[in-house]
Amino acid sequence: MALSSGREDIDYFRKRVLHWGRQNFRDFPWRSVKNQWHALVAEIMLQRTKADQVLPVFVRFAAQYREPADFLAAPTPLFSSLGLPIRDDQFLALNRTLVRAGLPAEKADLLKLPGVGDYIASAFVSLHLEKWSALVDANTVRVYGRFFGFETGPETRRKRGFIELAEEITPMRVFRDYNYAIIDFSREICTPRKPQHEACPVRRRCRYLQNVVCGTSERVITPEHLPQTQQTDEARQLAQTYENLTRN
Ligand code: SF4
Repeated sequence: MALSSGREDIDYFRKRVLHWGRQNFRDFPWRSVKNQWHALVAEIMLQRTKADQVLPVFVRFAAQYREPADFLAAPTPLFSSLGLPIRDDQFLALNRTLVRAGLPAEKADLLKLPGVGDYIASAFVSLHLEKWSALVDANTVRVYGRFFGFETGPETRRKRGFIELAEEITPMRVFRDYNYAIIDFSREICTPRKPQHEACPVRRRCRYLQNVVCGTSERVITPEHLPQTQQTDEARQLAQTYENLTRN
């Protein structure tokens, strides 16, 4: 897979974030919920909304509704209370589909549901169904971009090279623990504003801290420089550049 040349950094990051995550696990109610529909709804709520904001809304929702048919019988503007009113219609459509066809257990089928994109499907299968999947969203883009030292933008999460990086970092065996760890790490430590560098378990090798905060140089590469699956000569050269830049 791509970026095997950055193996040391990848291993370092994975091991340390995993360790930090196990020590700082937040036991939100949706993390141990048995009702899979509740779990899916929680992941939908959590996309673009902070966990602490979601908490009271989710608790009320889970107490009020047991299954999609209950919600359709007495719907409430669930997402308006989270500041996302546009999602209420989507949520009704989702529940109509679930009543008709049931809740899928495969990522490819989940992606066909109204309002379920790649992040929600990956989070649901990896955190609640014990199926490996890597998380790719604005948070992982920010954290990996900072640590490995590449510039990021709105399109980064769609780039093949970035997706491969996220897949390579996500362990095959303890992926659930890792995915919880990276979610908590991006919320508590490598936050969008005022990242907690002093408390960060990966600060020793973080390119953002070395290059941008400490001012030794500008950021080193752009997303285009991430290696592609089908490598051209140019892409191979860029991969080599990446290797050189990420080597200690
Ligand atoms: S050192 Fe700072 S920028 Fe780097 S990963 Fe940690 S919190 Fe994020």
